[in-house]
Amino acid sequence: MTRKSVDDRLIFFHAREITSLPPMHTTPEFPNLLVIQHPLVQHKLSILRNGETPQKIFKELVDEIAMLMAYEATSGLTLESVAVQTPLEETQGWRVSGKKLTLVPILRAGLGMVEGVLRLVPSARVGHIGLYRDHDTLQPVDYYFKVPGDAAERDFFLLDPMLATGGSAVSAVASLKRAGATRIRFLCLVAAPEGVRRLLQEHADVQIFCAALDRELNAVGYILPGLGDAGDRLFGTR
Ligand code: URA
Repeated sequence: MTRKSVDDRLIFFHAREITSLPPMHTTPEFPNLLVIQHPLVQHKLSILRNGETPQKIFKELVDEIAMLMAYEATSGLTLESVAVQTPLEETQGWRVSGKKLTLVPILRAGLGMVEGVLRLVPSARVGHIGLYRDHDTLQPVDYYFKVPGDAAERDFFLLDPMLATGGSAVSAVASLKRAGATRIRFLCLVAAPEGVRRLLQEHADVQIFCAALDRELNAVGYILPGLGDAGDRLFGTR
């Protein structure tokens, strides 16, 4: 079964109940894009898309989807062995190695994803990136940037619910790289092909995780079908 709202040149969905093929998460065009097709993520995303969903529920769902996505996005973290003393004997276990993971929400909508990821990784550090679009140049301009020192030694999760034109994402990744970051994953709820293409053209090393790859952008940069303005729906500023 193919999802009609998605361009099937870009992505293939195999419904688990009618095929023996494993679910396909990536697309030929975007090998660095992972679409998280967990049933709970997809179920919650549909409620999020509904324009009638109230702000409180919208906020809770963004939080829950971010937590579920973090489970996938952390699957590549490296482990080191550790000795553990059980009540009975010593055994060998594992812990995530290296410096603490760092979450970096892009203000303001990215804030809605922070608590969900923190619930899974409570020790994560949280940086912030504030960007606005200059009216004359239309280029994103950093107005706030704060991440922990020793960025080169950390894994970063850049958070923004919507990957639309890719302008903010490209700029935020560039800022993180200027600070020394080398391991950056981008987590969004909904991505547009235009944004994924642009981000991967500029930063081919970034792994992108999303819950949906939508059809296209409209003339004013909104994702179709999308879910509207994520920041406004999160914070009730519609
Ligand atoms: N930002 C949003 O919040 N929604 C879109 O559809 C595109 C960018």
